[in-house]
Amino acid sequence: MIQDYKDKRDFKPTPELFPERESTSEGPLIFVVQKHAGRQLHYDFRLEVGGVLKSWAVSKGPSYNPGTKRLAIMVEDHPLDYSNFEGTIPQGEYGAGQVIVWDRGTYSPDEDGEFFFNDRTKAEEKVREGLVSGILSISIRGEKLKGSWTLVRMQHSDKNWLLIKHRDKFAAPNRNILKEDASVISGLTIDDLNSIRPSSDKG
Ligand code: MN
Repeated sequence: MIQDYKDKRDFKPTPELFPERESTSEGPLIFVVQKHAGRQLHYDFRLEVGGVLKSWAVSKGPSYNPGTKRLAIMVEDHPLDYSNFEGTIPQGEYGAGQVIVWDRGTYSPDEDGEFFFNDRTKAEEKVREGLVSGILSISIRGEKLKGSWTLVRMQHSDKNWLLIKHRDKFAAPNRNILKEDASVISGLTIDDLNSIRPSSDKG
């Protein structure tokens, strides 16, 4: 449900999407990572399932080093169309700051080497199972993020998960993917957006 998303926002000032409905789509499930210079810089890691984007805030961003566990805090579901959003959320609004689409593409559960890029129903079923059990292994086909990753819920916690790169041919302990800091949609960086401040921004 995206009620939490609506409740947190005032849709007059924010340029973010007001969701009319929960969307449906076809083909492989999508993922998006939005770099968000809010009160603290973080990366919003979002996975499509059931017509919404399940979302985690990853303060340090994804790492290609399989030895690095990145804290990923589950936040409210976002509407599917949010995956296209980039721009500046005005000062004083929820999540105020710049947002770019840092990466996006498709994903599939990949446990036991089985993929469901071509079977949306089965893919969603597996994702839901993983969300309940607290272990979700997925293969990602993005521009920056590729290969197998896992999300593991921490013990005695609802919201705290870890995002970890699996050891596969894409794993690269010394690669700092965060250096690739431009939007995959517009080519803009957070700094670029920063220099085009909206007129309503008095902060
Ligand atoms: Mn965010």
